[in-house]
Amino acid sequence: MISFNSLPGNAALKRSLQNALAGRFPQTVLLSGDDSEALSGFADVLAAALLCESAGPRPCGVCLSCRKAEEGIHPDLTVVDEGENELKVDLARRIKAENAIIPNDGPRRVTVIRHAQNLNPAAQNALLKELEEPPAFAFFILTAEQPDALLETVRSRCLKFALEPSAAAVTDGDAAALLAPYLAAVAEHREDRMMRAALALEKTPRRALLGVFGVLQAALRDAVFLANGLPQPPLQPALREQTAALARAVAPARLVGMYDFVGVLCGRVSRNAAAAAVTNALTSDVYRICFL
Ligand SMILES: [Zn+2]
Repeated sequence: MISFNSLPGNAALKRSLQNALAGRFPQTVLLSGDDSEALSGFADVLAAALLCESAGPRPCGVCLSCRKAEEGIHPDLTVVDEGENELKVDLARRIKAENAIIPNDGPRRVTVIRHAQNLNPAAQNALLKELEEPPAFAFFILTAEQPDALLETVRSRCLKFALEPSAAAVTDGDAAALLAPYLAAVAEHREDRMMRAALALEKTPRRALLGVFGVLQAALRDAVFLANGLPQPPLQPALREQTAALARAVAPARLVGMYDFVGVLCGRVSRNAAAAAVTNALTSDVYRICFL
């Protein structure tokens, strides 16, 4: 049965959504968080709540509308999920066209756009007016693992709700131990050893891998400062030796490229990219970024 209780943790967020649902709910909301699965769960429950026919707390889980929403057959609920793919302007036009028609079943129509950070700028611009002045029956729920990737003009039109960060299961020390052989291999231009170290990283649980990548980005930032002759107190002192080697081996602009690429990888991991794809990215893509 679809309900807020079936969702993990986030007690404060549940309370504020339920309070908002009891009043005049905003027509455009942005849910952000690093856990795609939890984000989708919250968006689904919220969509069901907006369509629910109950006079009591929503979603009731038992009315026809709730059941249709749960089964994914509600005619007034559109869920856009293109995974990692770019969301293009034709999608934005389709959404606008759908929302030009009054809803079938009840008084509202809900559009959920998952991974909204993948809306390209043209698509975001095409949706702007729709998000700003939607028809009275139209509700939009955007979910984003990286809300900062959205245009400020889009973000400012949404009421924002954030999920609690998922607990990283590794400490910085563990992450540094995992990363040391990898960074050393990059500094030595050894793609074969990068592969071996990346395979070890691949065994890290998904949620923890984001924490590891956070440490990797901090180490790369240290290397960028060193390479530019601007030594600063390191963010990752445990990787001091490896970042110094990296700063000597890789040109500063390429280190920045690697830093950006790790950010892209975080997005892929949070959208459940296959483990093999992550290993491949840490091996051949990083090698190309650094040396070719
Ligand atoms: Zn209901």
